[in-house]
Amino acid sequence: MVGIDQVLEKLSTVIDPDLKKDIVSMGMIKDLELNDGNLKFTLELTTPACPFNVEIEDDVRKAIADISELKNFDLKVTAKVMEGRSLDDDTGMATVKNIIGVASGKGGVGKSTVSLNLALALQQTGAKVGLLDADIYGPSIPLMLGMKDGSMEVEDNKLQPADVHGLKVVSFGFFADQSNQAAIYRGPIISGILKQFLVDTNWSDLDYLIVDLPPGTGDIPLTLAQTIPITGILVVTTPQDVASYVAVKAVSMFEKLNVPIIGVVENMSHFVCPNCDDKHYIFGEGGAKKISEQFKMPFLGEIPLNSGIMSGSDLGKPIMMTNPDSPSAEAFRKSAKNIAAQCSIIASKLQEEMASEGSSETSDKEPTTESTPEPTTTQT
Ligand code: ADP
Repeated sequence: MVGIDQVLEKLSTVIDPDLKKDIVSMGMIKDLELNDGNLKFTLELTTPACPFNVEIEDDVRKAIADISELKNFDLKVTAKVMEGRSLDDDTGMATVKNIIGVASGKGGVGKSTVSLNLALALQQTGAKVGLLDADIYGPSIPLMLGMKDGSMEVEDNKLQPADVHGLKVVSFGFFADQSNQAAIYRGPIISGILKQFLVDTNWSDLDYLIVDLPPGTGDIPLTLAQTIPITGILVVTTPQDVASYVAVKAVSMFEKLNVPIIGVVENMSHFVCPNCDDKHYIFGEGGAKKISEQFKMPFLGEIPLNSGIMSGSDLGKPIMMTNPDSPSAEAFRKSAKNIAAQCSIIASKLQEEMASEGSSETSDKEPTTESTPEPTTTQT
């Protein structure tokens, strides 16, 4: 009769393409029961936005189909997002598993549009998502969400984020008067405001907090990198931006601060002809990909130049909400999945580091120097 060992042996042939590890050693098999040839278990993915969810489930079913003695097989697929940052700090943000800073070299590349639509795309997979509009000099998220007079309540000395389309949202723009004065704020005041938005907000349980940063390498991006452990930085570029290497400056700053770079998304990358569906790379093709290869950052996707994306942002009706089946929404969804996958890779690396720190503390043996997979598997 088939035994649990045999089942686990078969399942350990299934490899997560992103993490490059087998699903058994990653702890993705839960609640396994085997009774008289009847098998059931739960496959727990590392994110509901896993780009390879279908492939992994197929591989699991194929591996189990190889066991001829089984009478019945019942599979449940769920997801539990991994912690892509150390939650072991005193900032009170231990309920936020991943913090993703969205940066750009210069303004106008569509960073806020991309932040918002990616947040919605992640949320639509079932993840719990927050969006912090930290673009203090030009907070555009309230307008993009169609919020005319957003305000935030305070409960138990904590800001209560607005709940919009299932996202937890905080924006400097909610303080309407203050946002006009923001341009005169500098250094410590600006840093203080960001810290407050981060740690004095009741974010509750979040899988991903997207932080829309101001462009460039000023006080806010620096404060984010230095105040709390974050999962990493997502860089938004456009083809023109790439040509001027302006995004690279932002990347260099975060690298110097030892903040992981999650990858690059190229916005306004191409135009899809509405008549023939052909892609036209009107500003040149492959620029962001080349830069990502040069700087060893994953390339996570390209978003088309599309009037629906623009009017969605400008009219307060994001395309992920109004037209989720459109090719533009699909482009956001693909990028969001690749970002979630990179967060899982960073989380897995973090787990390994913590495990090896733990074992070197408890053992006299030399610490192992197991290499971490190169974070390059993306579906673009
Ligand atoms: P940033 O945050 O980088 O300053 P925004 O997100 O505010 O940029 O976008 C600047 C302008 O570009 C907005 O009018 C927005 O609607 C438009 N935009 C952004 N992305 C796209 C896109 N992919 N296609 C068409 N228009 C876009």
